[in-house]
Amino acid sequence: MKIHEYQAKELLRKYGVVTPRGIPSFSVDEAVKAAEQLGGKIWVVKAQIHAGGRGKGGGVKLARSLDEVRKLAGEILGMQLVTHQTGPEGQKVRRLLIEEGADIKKEYYVAALTDRATQKVAIMASSEGGMDIEEVAHNTPEKIIKVFVDPLVGLTDAQATELAKGIGVPEASIPQAIDAFKKLYTCYMETDASLAEINPLILEGNGNIKALDAKFNFDSNALFRHPEIVEFRDLDEEDADEIEASKFDLAYISLDGNIGCLVNGAGLAMATMDTIKLFGAEPANFLDVGGGATTEKVTEAFKIMLKNPKVKGILVNIFGGIMRCDTIATGVVAAAREVHLSVPLVVRMKGTNEDLGKKILAESGLPIIAADTMAEAATKIVAAVK
Ligand code: ADP
Ligand code: MG
Repeated sequence: MKIHEYQAKELLRKYGVVTPRGIPSFSVDEAVKAAEQLGGKIWVVKAQIHAGGRGKGGGVKLARSLDEVRKLAGEILGMQLVTHQTGPEGQKVRRLLIEEGADIKKEYYVAALTDRATQKVAIMASSEGGMDIEEVAHNTPEKIIKVFVDPLVGLTDAQATELAKGIGVPEASIPQAIDAFKKLYTCYMETDASLAEINPLILEGNGNIKALDAKFNFDSNALFRHPEIVEFRDLDEEDADEIEASKFDLAYISLDGNIGCLVNGAGLAMATMDTIKLFGAEPANFLDVGGGATTEKVTEAFKIMLKNPKVKGILVNIFGGIMRCDTIATGVVAAAREVHLSVPLVVRMKGTNEDLGKKILAESGLPIIAADTMAEAATKIVAAVK
């Protein structure tokens, strides 16, 4: 689960990380009031969407008067903000953060994330803040410094110093940088985050270190123990079909291709997507109906897949283990009838009650194309959508 920048900063402040003062706003009037309340002479009007790269996309603007705050807030609120992370259609801006303008001397990058190779939390920092870190990693990997934290010890002073010195924080500001890194680590651990990124972490003219932007991802399997983080959830920022799917306990992720896939088991779903690609087409979604799919669940799965106008055919690939093939077949037939299926449907099923399942499909009178192997199923669905 992701959260907005202003929520991320609220969280960081709770752990003692210093940020500029800012106030979230949902309307132009609120934005002006926020700027008045903050005082000062320079404000930054920041679009709040879950994607990064807002600055480059025109979603982060400096204002030098309250009139300018009003004008910029009016422009940014409601705009369709396109960044390299939103896709070409962009994301509608519904919230703003009005923040005091910072006196930036240098922008750094720092993030906490779980490193699978070492099975430890890595703290990663760079002198090249404010930029796309993937680009830095690609072009100048030597400018990224990583330390791996022993979970029993936590981030040590020595490690935090190595990071601060390694990215070139001036001597006088090193204690503040160390403090920020340690607090970031604690925040990451205690919130069950899977990513906590501060980009940029800045050095101000007066030598202070502050988090100017913040981004978090949380492990959704741990959200049950963080009701305070679940409260940050903004459904406007999430894919409507994925929200619908989660209500029915379906693991669904929409993709760009035109073949809808309905599969039981994440591994088989991945293999099915690979097979579709191998035979020259692209999957329209990942969809795992899980082990205990009922007719109702399968029907919902069909409805969600078919909402996507790009879907030109559906491939159902089921392994009947705990789940029996006849249950799935009954579900598929009921779903196909209910949604008045108008695209080709290929079904491949193997396992428990396979014959009974195939019989149900064959006797349904629906134009279902049966397949025995994965290769046959993929060949048939690819041919059918072409
Ligand atoms: P994004 O990463 O989505 O582009 P950021 O919050 O990192 O958004 O803002 C982009 C850039 O805008 C920053 O790198 C920084 O240079 C500038 N900026 C952001 N917030 C402020 C602020 N409060 N004061 C001054 N400059 C800012
Ligand atoms: Mg940023």
